Amino acid sequence: MLFMGLFVIWQPFMFVPILVVLASLLMHEYSHVWMALRLGFRVSHVMVHPFGAAAMVEDDGTEMVRRPKAEMAVAVAGPLMSLLCALCALLIFRAWPSVTARWAVYANVGMFLFNMLPIYPMDGGRILNGFVSWAFGRKTAFWAALAFSAAAWLAAALFFIHAGWVFGFAVMGLVAWISFVSLAKLREVVGKA
Ligand SMILES: [Zn+2]
Repeated sequence: MLFMGLFVIWQPFMFVPILVVLASLLMHEYSHVWMALRLGFRVSHVMVHPFGAAAMVEDDGTEMVRRPKAEMAVAVAGPLMSLLCALCALLIFRAWPSVTARWAVYANVGMFLFNMLPIYPMDGGRILNGFVSWAFGRKTAFWAALAFSAAAWLAAALFFIHAGWVFGFAVMGLVAWISFVSLAKLREVVGKA
C-alpha cells in the first residue's frame, strides 16, 4: 500500500492502473473471507501489506489444520475470483478496448499466477497443504509444504536472477521470510492440533 501510494505521487498517470490493482486485490481477498465465513471460521481482519493482502482467521490456525478440505476451499476461492475477474475484464476489453480494462486483465492474471505458486502460506501452498493433509495426514503435509515451498522459491528466485529482474528478486526475499515464519508456525500448530 505504501509502495503504491509513493508510486502514484511519483507517477501520477499510474493512478487508474493502481486503483485497478487495488480493486482486484480486494476482490481476491474478500473471496477468501466470504468462503471462510461460509465454512464457519471467524475472520478477524484483512491485513493489507506492501505486496498484497491476507485475510486473517481469528484463531491461531489450529482449526484450519484440523479441517484440510476447508483449508483447500478457502485457499482456492481467491485465485478463482482472480480468474473470473480476468475473464470479465477480457470480455470488457474485447467489447470496449481501454487501458483500464487491459490493466484489469494483467492485474488479475498476475495475481492468479503469483498466488498459485506452491509456496506456503500463499494460496497455492495452502491448497497443496490442505490436499496432502487430507490424503496423507498433517505431519506429511508439513514436510511436503516445506519441500515444495523451498523448491518453488528457489525456482522463482533463479528465474528472477536469470531475467535480471531485481524487484522480483526482492519480492522473493520477502516471500522467503514470510514463508519461513509461517512454516515455523504451521509446525507448532500441527504439533498440538
Ligand atoms: Zn489469496
